[in-house]
Parts: sequence; structure tokens; C-alpha cells
Amino acid sequence: MSSSFQAPRGTYDILPATAATVLAVREALAAPLRRAGYGYIETPVFEDVKLFSRGVGESTDIVSKEMFTLTRRSDEDLALRPEGTASVLRATLEANLHRIGNLPVKLWYSGSQYRYEKPQKGRYRQFWQVGAEAIGAEDPALDAELVILAHDAYRSLGLRDFRILLNSLGDKTCRPVYRAALQEFLGGLDLDEETVRRAAINPLRVLDDKRPEVAKQLVGAPRLRDYLCEDCKAYHERVRELLTAAGVGFEDDDKLVRGLDYYTRTTFEFVHDGLGAQSAVGGGGRYDGLSEMIGGPALPSVGWALGVDRTVLALEAEGIELPGPAGTDVFAVPLGDEARRVLFGAVTELRREGLSADIVYGPKGLKAAMKAADRSGARYAVVAGERDLAENLVQLKDLTSGDQTPVALDALVTTLKEKLK
Ligand code: ATP
Ligand code: MG
Repeated sequence: MSSSFQAPRGTYDILPATAATVLAVREALAAPLRRAGYGYIETPVFEDVKLFSRGVGESTDIVSKEMFTLTRRSDEDLALRPEGTASVLRATLEANLHRIGNLPVKLWYSGSQYRYEKPQKGRYRQFWQVGAEAIGAEDPALDAELVILAHDAYRSLGLRDFRILLNSLGDKTCRPVYRAALQEFLGGLDLDEETVRRAAINPLRVLDDKRPEVAKQLVGAPRLRDYLCEDCKAYHERVRELLTAAGVGFEDDDKLVRGLDYYTRTTFEFVHDGLGAQSAVGGGGRYDGLSEMIGGPALPSVGWALGVDRTVLALEAEGIELPGPAGTDVFAVPLGDEARRVLFGAVTELRREGLSADIVYGPKGLKAAMKAADRSGARYAVVAGERDLAENLVQLKDLTSGDQTPVALDALVTTLKEKLK
């Protein structure tokens, strides 16, 4: 009988069979960051809701529909974090990391995020991201570095069928001019009420609308690239050059905008072609305005977040299997009470010596115990009964060949270490 409870809608359990892949993905996404001087940071799973509503901008989907809020009677309103950037910046400012050390402050994180989404394949209410933020520097090399690190992380997993989309969103000088031009254009279209509202608050988001009735009207919309100021153009050109020099291919995508209003200049997304509708495996960009929005000094910054769940799906789509962790080396099968005591001690010693060892638990006969040994995937079984122990012996059975040899009890650990080397 199974329990009467199920994992909440939009969530799932990471079970041992897939956990190895998940852990390997998190590790692979993080490894290039460690090599590039990013320090690890963990922030709380919940924060003051205003950190996200202010920081993220009132008009985004995350804030208007997707936030999990927690209301306590006397406290402030809290929200489960929908993304990592605002929290990491909050923590940086709170601990004065931007005053103590070099700029940029380079940080990376790995953890769960929460969004009240309509669950579907690749879209969950709890999902995992590995993210990176470089806080307090404006330098096209930094934007390029982050794109290269994500690219190298995906490559190190063996992924091939992903593409990098790149755009510049302009800055506080040129974007408002474009925004006004776009709004004027959108005003002349035949749009539903919600889209009209979105056009008023965040017109760039409308460009991202993939519904055919909207998309076909967007042909001929003013293009941001024609409005970029000279500084933004030069900056973007430099980012593109550095990516090309690093052998990182990308596609210029005029329609790429981020969901979050505080993004400026460089913006990018990693899409995987084997994932269907939920094709974005990661995304990020420059967010020069966010620090000031949450009460900090001007700290131009750039970062990304890569989706762990979708990266795992991308590996499946490409048929890539990551090498799993080594299984159990040794499985002990004691016959009788005294043997249990002795082999339990031997297993403890094997573990302390760095081998992975397990033992049969509960009342089991020899046949069931040997079956457990086979199932464990161990290379060797150590079998011992009263008669063996009387002679200070155990039987070492090679579970692949079936060969069995007696080994002196006090030579067991060295023998196994030798054999498993
Ligand atoms: P989408 O357009 O798919 O909703 P997004 O723009 O909301 O993505 P970001 O906020 O940029 O996504 O988050 C970065 C990455 O996190 C995404 O590229 C994706 O891989 C992952 N991600 C975002 N939302 C979810 C979710 N609900 N479930 C699983 N992964 C997610
Ligand atoms: Mg989303």
C-alpha cells in the first residue's frame, strides 16, 4: 500500500536512480565558476516579499502571478524566492562585500526556486538553479566571461544541441526612447486587454509573445538595435568579439528580452532544441539598475541562472548518460549471530578505509542474503558462518565470476583494498 500523501502539484522527488545525474549536473554547472574565482553563497529560501516585488519590478510575470507568498500574523510578508539574483545582491549589500573586497564581487549559488506556475514538462513550482553573479563592474569582458562559463559548463556535460541567443537591451539613456517608440507602435495594433495592459507596463515583453495572432502583428515593430546609443553599441560589439574569439557561437536575437525589468544591455538565453516548449535551459544578463532599486549604491552587475531540471531533460533528449557514482564494493553476508557481530565490525573498518561496504540487515536466510548481495551491485560478497570464524576465516566471493576463496579475517581489509584498487 502506498501512503495517502503525494508530492504537491508541480513538485517531484529526486530519487536515487536520477539523483546521481542531478548531482553531476549541479557539479558540472558550478565547476567552471569555481575555476573563474566565483565564491559560493547561500541565502535563505524565503525573503521579505518586497525584495522581489521592488527588485524584480512590479510588472513582471513572476511578481504578478508566480510568487509563493507566506503571510505571518505579526511579521512582514515573506515570499519563497522565485530567483536568486535579488537575494544574492541583498546579501552582498548587507555584508558590505562590495566595500570589503575587489570589484566585481563574484558569487555563485545552487538551490531551489519557487514559482506558482502551471505545471508541465520542464516547468515546475519547485525547481533548481545554479546561478552566478558578478557584482559591481561594467566591463564587456565580464559579460563575455559569464556566457563563456555557461557555454563551457554545458559542453562539459556533452551537450551539443543548444544555442546561445544574444541581445542588448540598451541602457537608461537609449532604452526609454525605444520604449516610447515601441509603445506608440503597439498602440496601433489590435491586441487583447491583457496584452494592452502589458504594453503599458512592460512593452518589451510583448515582443516575446509567441501567439500567432500577436506575433504576426509584430512584423515591422521598431527594433531596439536601431535605437542603441553609441556607448551601448560599442559595448555590445565588444561582447560579441570576445565571444567569437573564445569560439563561442551565438545568434543575435532582437526579440530576446528578459522577464525582469532591471536588466540592461547584454541579455542572453541558452535554448536547447530537444526540449519542446520549455526550451530555455538558462538565461541571464546585465542588471545595472537593481542595486539602486533595493536601496544600495550604483553597482552595475551581470549574472545568469541555469536550470538544473531542464539541463537533466536536455541530457535525456540527447541520450547522454553521465557516469554514475561507484556502487557498493563489498556486501557482507553473516550466517549466525557471532558472524553478524564480526562482519559488522569488518564493514565499519572497510568503510573507514574508504571502500564502500554494506551488510545484510534483518532476519534473512542464506538464499535471500545472497540475492541482496547480488542486487547491491557489489563486486565481492564476504560470507562467514560459525565454522569459518572458528578458523578465523571468511569466504570471499567474486560476484562476477562466482569464484570463492577463503581469506584470513585479519587480512580481509588489505586483501579487498588490493583487489579493488
Ligand atoms: P521561461 O521563459 O521558460 O518561463 P524564465 O525566463 O522564467 O523561463 P529565468 O527566470 O531566466 O526563466 O530562469 C532561468 C532558468 O531557470 C530558465 O532558463 C529555466 O531553465 C529555469 N526555469 C525557470 N522557471 C522554471 C520552472 N518553473 N521550472 C523549471 N525550470 C525553470
Ligand atoms: Mg518563467
